[in-house]
Amino acid sequence: MSAPAPYVGRFAPSPTGPLHAGSVVAALASWLDARAHRGRWLLRIEDLDPPREQPGAAASIVDTLGRLGLHPDGEIVVQSTRGSAYAEALGTLVARGLGYPCGCTRREIADSVLHAGGTRTRTRHGELRYPGTCRDGLAPGRTARAWRLRVPDGVVRFEDRRLGTQSQDIAAEIGDFVLKRADGLWAYQLAVVVDDTAQGVTDVVRGTDLLGSTGRQVVLARALGLPSPRWLHVPVVAGADGDKLSKQTGATAVDASRPLEVLGAAMRHLGLEPPADAPLDAWLADATARWAARRLRAS
Ligand code: GLU
Repeated sequence: MSAPAPYVGRFAPSPTGPLHAGSVVAALASWLDARAHRGRWLLRIEDLDPPREQPGAAASIVDTLGRLGLHPDGEIVVQSTRGSAYAEALGTLVARGLGYPCGCTRREIADSVLHAGGTRTRTRHGELRYPGTCRDGLAPGRTARAWRLRVPDGVVRFEDRRLGTQSQDIAAEIGDFVLKRADGLWAYQLAVVVDDTAQGVTDVVRGTDLLGSTGRQVVLARALGLPSPRWLHVPVVAGADGDKLSKQTGATAVDASRPLEVLGAAMRHLGLEPPADAPLDAWLADATARWAARRLRAS
């Protein structure tokens, strides 16, 4: 019997703004879980969507993490440098008949759904379900705008370490989803699967706001013949309006000059009593022991 792969975790922020209280929760949970497993913790900057990014945000996130004592093991991966790996994965999918070009505009997708007698159902991320118009080839005279994955029918299941078995019918709820966007940008779903594999990630720990993407990532990994990591989705921090606190909605930067306050709030959010004040490294070691003790009790 082969030994299980050594634990590799990661934090993968999009540089749309400075680190805020919500992203610290995801960073700390992934760091604690990696340390509790004596694993490595990697950092990846997901800068695939320039219109949503803020100049200087990536550097500010790295700096803040360092001041919170959360130092990545190994090189920081920057997605904007990884286009050739994404192109290779898309090529593999196309060669397997699983990736195909799509000529539809957003409007056409919305209209075809209505003409078929359906309502304009939107996925949790606000996209329209793709009705499969270009699945069997582009209509004459149409040119490829985006590339999509041919999603198999049926329910996809995966285990979340906290939430248990999750299931999602991607074909029914989302349809063939985008791998490369009409504006030429790589889709998050493709990039994350390619990079988690390339970085040897065994465990993804992130907020429940991404739970709706996990099924797509499982389907995509299968299509590429890759294993999926283990999953743990932790509660997200809500803003004053009850929605997820996010950089887009103007969540403010955490005050990295008070690391124990910032980390303590994140720990409480994760349901753990923070350690008493101590030098940062000792505090983090104690926090790791608390995380590990809860994990052992829970499993
Ligand atoms: N880049 C994504 C975000 O900041 C997270 C990706 C992930 O953890 O899989 O929301």
